[in-house]
Amino acid sequence: MSEENRSQKSNPLLNSTLMQVERAAARMGLDPGMLKLLQEPKRCLTVSIPIRRDNGTLDIFQGFRVQHNVARGPAKGGIRFHQDATLEEVIALSALMTWKCAVVNIPYGGAKGAIVCNPKELSLAELERLTRRYTMEISLIIGPEKDIPAPDVNTNPQVMAWIMDTYSMQLGYSVPAVVTGKPIELGGSLGRNEATGRGCVYTIEEAAARTGLDLKQATVAVQGFGNAGSVAATYLEDLGCRVIAVSDSRGGILNENGLNLTAVKEFKTRTGTVAGYPEATPLTQEELLSLACDILVPAALENQITAANAGDIRAKIIAEAANGPISADADETLYEKGILVIPDILANAGGVVVSYFEWVQGIQHFFWSQDEVNNQLRQRMVSSFRDVYELAGREHVSLRTAAYMIALERVEKAVSLRGIFV
Ligand code: GLU
Repeated sequence: MSEENRSQKSNPLLNSTLMQVERAAARMGLDPGMLKLLQEPKRCLTVSIPIRRDNGTLDIFQGFRVQHNVARGPAKGGIRFHQDATLEEVIALSALMTWKCAVVNIPYGGAKGAIVCNPKELSLAELERLTRRYTMEISLIIGPEKDIPAPDVNTNPQVMAWIMDTYSMQLGYSVPAVVTGKPIELGGSLGRNEATGRGCVYTIEEAAARTGLDLKQATVAVQGFGNAGSVAATYLEDLGCRVIAVSDSRGGILNENGLNLTAVKEFKTRTGTVAGYPEATPLTQEELLSLACDILVPAALENQITAANAGDIRAKIIAEAANGPISADADETLYEKGILVIPDILANAGGVVVSYFEWVQGIQHFFWSQDEVNNQLRQRMVSSFRDVYELAGREHVSLRTAAYMIALERVEKAVSLRGIFV
């Protein structure tokens, strides 16, 4: 996409994603026409979703499903429920999925979906109706060989079960492989729930080993205490790290001596938030991000570290468990400061890697043990990290640019081999 086109995008995540791809493409000397092709989403579907509210009124929600690129295989990516979701944001997130699947070399293209809603304001029955009607609308383009949704922000195995059921009802038989991140009872994979956090910690272990950071002495701050953040924090604690701060959308908590995560999780289950946890002092998101610590894990939403606060960051290693938490301009500042950023398309790829294992297990009707899943995940994450780290060293670029270079090369190769039809 040309500079001119790019400046027309109003969504900061989309701008950042396009810019990051451009940086890597320039470094590789990628053909400008090919770059243009790789920057554009293949297919964007916008749907309106009417549902009956519990009080009898009719409400219309908006939803999206975007398939960014399918040169390397079926489109793959999560569905989020969020009040601020926009088509441009979903386009950016679908592109991140294309690059993520390519970096870890699983045979998928990228997709993403969203329903613009605040799930906290909907009853469970309303959420089910919304999910089922959205599934009907996007059934035109999803399917186990076409496009396979999964959980993302504010969606979970139950939502996947509703999607799988709605899709299957239309065909008259069960199609478990149409989604991943399903409940285990419906063909989900052991280890899928923890996979994003677990995979992220595998990359942190690799980064620590290469930079001489002793994890047993390391301090950690985690922004976002949802599926990815709480799991990553727990595994880091298991490795001997001191997790000094965590936060969620309602606020953060700090204890320089190390938080007791079991107690924090119990508190969150009881109250719905970590904010107010007694054995800690309150902390804002800004304060958490700029804490002096060894490892910072942004595991919430996009655009948390931007040009405005990049200068304040004091962590040594940042592992992006969220998608797009660092803007492209902030990335440059962090690189100049010598902070090692493990980019989202590598650091949080564990989720989609185990989604791939789930899909393979479902298609083969043969299920793996938890150890098998974790071992295969570790192998995939470690070898992908090694490839990215080595390329970054050889080319004197950030891990992000190196990851994009590997991903772009794989997708470009697939597109070139297939050729342009007519
Ligand atoms: N939503 C996750 C992500 O952003 C997982 C996607 C998937 O498993 O398909 O990577």
